[in-house]
Amino acid sequence: MTLFKNATLLEIDPPAIRESMELLVEDDQISKIAPKIDAPNAEMVDLKGKILMPGMVCSHHHYYSGLARGILAEIGPTPDFASILKNLWWRLDRALDAESLKSSALICSLDAIRAGTTAVIDHHASPNFIEGSLKVLKDAFEHCGLRGMSCYEVTDRNGREGMLAGVEENRAFAGLLDEEKKTGKWRGLFESHIGGHAPFTLSDESLKLLADTVEKSRRGLHIHVAEDSYDSSHSHAEHGKDLLVRLDSFGLLGPKSIMVHGVYLSSSEIDLLNQRDGFLVHNNRSNMNNSVGYNTRLPELKNLALGTDGIGGDMFEEVKFAYFNHKNNSGPWWPPNYAKALAAGNRLLERNFAASFGRLLPGYKADLVVADYPSPTPLVPENIAGHLVFGMTSSIVESVMINGQFVYRNRQFPFDIGPIYSEAAVQSRKLWERMDNILP
Ligand SMILES: [Zn+2]
Repeated sequence: MTLFKNATLLEIDPPAIRESMELLVEDDQISKIAPKIDAPNAEMVDLKGKILMPGMVCSHHHYYSGLARGILAEIGPTPDFASILKNLWWRLDRALDAESLKSSALICSLDAIRAGTTAVIDHHASPNFIEGSLKVLKDAFEHCGLRGMSCYEVTDRNGREGMLAGVEENRAFAGLLDEEKKTGKWRGLFESHIGGHAPFTLSDESLKLLADTVEKSRRGLHIHVAEDSYDSSHSHAEHGKDLLVRLDSFGLLGPKSIMVHGVYLSSSEIDLLNQRDGFLVHNNRSNMNNSVGYNTRLPELKNLALGTDGIGGDMFEEVKFAYFNHKNNSGPWWPPNYAKALAAGNRLLERNFAASFGRLLPGYKADLVVADYPSPTPLVPENIAGHLVFGMTSSIVESVMINGQFVYRNRQFPFDIGPIYSEAAVQSRKLWERMDNILP
């Protein structure tokens, strides 16, 4: 049990501030909130007026990219999106093995926690290490105490055998989680989607297999769609259908599903996604980095969340870029719209974990951030989004609690992170060397 005293409680959606409050955490949940709580057996944590807020959710990430930072490998020319995939990411993922993936996943988890991110939804590919790869990710998340989800990106780009192995990894991993739940071994931290890379690398046979796996596992699909115009034109040319109409014809759009990017979705496709109550995850920095264009239709989406697409786990940073680029493209939205999209990652967690997330109320999961933010101007419910976009950065994150446990306290992890960073440096060099021997 943990009793936070003297806390300024801050919620992003709906925006709320309550000063001088006490909040009690029992097991993995918030159990009580009041000006005064009597809990003699609880550990007292006096926040001295600092902010206590729900943790951030990164709704789309690629943990396989954790060792790509500052990459020194022969990448070759990347004039367009297809060449970025072929020359960089599809060589990096083929060079991954169990050791480098573990290293990459630990680094991504530490980065996320340090930035006050308490849940990360990952999308994974490692074509030469498929079987067992999702378990490596789960172990890394759980080692750091981070909440998350992953899935294997099924694709036809490595032949039919590779496609089948990807489907099987999704099926087997969902089965492993179900077994853990049945036997009482599930820690409550990790869940799964069924993954697909993108429609343009998936045949109808592959989509059918994904749909069967989605149905049998009772999970949602997590897939890139229309990140580049090529995905949409490929769908029209090869299948004679709008991309989301094609996915929907296999029953792949649903409330647990995540469509990622959607830069080139039409209004009628967005209507369809909205009807199916599906989510779109916008990754603004990644879209800028890949020069794929700007998603001008964000305000049309019923369910919109934010992700980084592998560019770290810092959502304080992502929401700023998302907002500024929107304004730079003359978009109609203001900071509260972006704060809402940021907080919507919690709805994704709720749909996949069958629990309540993202608010400071009894019965909600204790995924919390203690933030030291001495505001120079009044901080009130009406301007929380303004502070988020124009003031707060991840440097204010002092402590992080996930599922009722401190995973980062007074800017320290509960274990020595030195060996994780030295091992990552060794694994990065080896990974980059292996990439040089893989042809695009
Ligand atoms: Zn992605």
